[in-house]
Amino acid sequence: MVVVVKFGGSSMANAGQFEKVKKIVNANEDRKIVVVSAAGKRNSEDTKLTDLLFLLHAHLKYQVSYSNVMNMIENRFFDIKKELNLKFDLEGELNDLKSKLNKNTNQDFLVSRGEYITAKLMSEYLGYTFVDAKDLIFFNYDGSFNFAKIKEATKEAYQKYGKIIVPGFYGSLPDGNIKLLSRGGSDITGSLLAAAVDAAKYENWTDVSGVLMADPRIVKNPKGINQITYSELRELSYMGASVLHQETVFPVQQANIPINILNTNKADDPGTIIMENCTDKTQIITGIAGKKDFTSFTIHRDHISDQVGIVRDALDVFAKYNISIEHVPTGIDNFSVVVATADVEKCMYDLIHDLNERIKGSTVEIDDGIALIAVVGRNMASKPGISGQIFGVLGENGINIKMIAQGARELTIIVGVLNSDFEKTINTIYNHFVK
Ligand code: ASP
Repeated sequence: MVVVVKFGGSSMANAGQFEKVKKIVNANEDRKIVVVSAAGKRNSEDTKLTDLLFLLHAHLKYQVSYSNVMNMIENRFFDIKKELNLKFDLEGELNDLKSKLNKNTNQDFLVSRGEYITAKLMSEYLGYTFVDAKDLIFFNYDGSFNFAKIKEATKEAYQKYGKIIVPGFYGSLPDGNIKLLSRGGSDITGSLLAAAVDAAKYENWTDVSGVLMADPRIVKNPKGINQITYSELRELSYMGASVLHQETVFPVQQANIPINILNTNKADDPGTIIMENCTDKTQIITGIAGKKDFTSFTIHRDHISDQVGIVRDALDVFAKYNISIEHVPTGIDNFSVVVATADVEKCMYDLIHDLNERIKGSTVEIDDGIALIAVVGRNMASKPGISGQIFGVLGENGINIKMIAQGARELTIIVGVLNSDFEKTINTIYNHFVK
């Protein structure tokens, strides 16, 4: 049996964290494939290695003296090496890197050295064979993953070495050049490797004991989620819950491999299990998440409901400006298109002009400062009265609902409220369903 384990930046931040990681890995023989992020923050004022590397790249590009940043980067690694008494030739590795630095140094290559060197150090400390992510994680030129190749290479490396450690966050293009994943992408590296070897489980070790039912900055001491389905997690992370990279679930979901989110600093906490068939029915709602700053374009024209193709015409205009649509609530003589404000700020006037041109005789009304809140729960499906309860408690608390949406699978109910009601709305819904 093989369990893939991924440790995030805070789990790799210093020698003390390395010790915890080793203890965790050694506690279960099945933890045979380890993925690591670059050393993260040691405390809230600290800087992540990845951010220092991006900064180093900017210094190089604009030809600003970079010795200070380079020193900070080197010290992060030397501290770990020294405290753990490792023999790895860090000096050689860093000298080699420094000899490659100039104003044209490839950003993806440079930034990937954070996870690369962190993994080399951890490889010696754990006694696991280092396998470079450039030899396991393959991209196509369009940025998609070449999963067939990933699978073949990962199986081969695993069969050959038995226990391997792989740096997260990057892979290689067909020409061999390094390409980074998006920020937080080591989660996806772990997920791809777990799917490649058909792992029994994918453990994602971080600094919180799993996914919480609501953002702790908004709700005081929210409960943790024991079980959540892949789709529920997708809905929550799309709407702002940020424990895992939002694309993490795709590779493992297809193979039905559970993800367990666990806390390196509290290794005995059970954390959150993400899987297809959740049995826990104790809560009607699984979680609440939300985002502020949406704009609604309401397009009005008499008899709009009798005319075929008008919604498509409007959406075409948004597509022309490459704007992704959140929701399209429809009425009789009008319909609205809700989008992220940041996406339309620069093209607002052109967009309205084009909408008027395309839908002759229409008026367009703009409402901004809208917050969207998603109430997510597999246990809500086919239970009458849940949305009624949401609207009831919001009304009782003087919160005006500007928009409502619910998908056909009844997994999520979305309410749109004013930005100024955002925190109150989340607390009201949480208190009603959970407390
Ligand atoms: N180190 C990278 C980042 O900070 C990737 C990761 O941690 O997953 O985004």
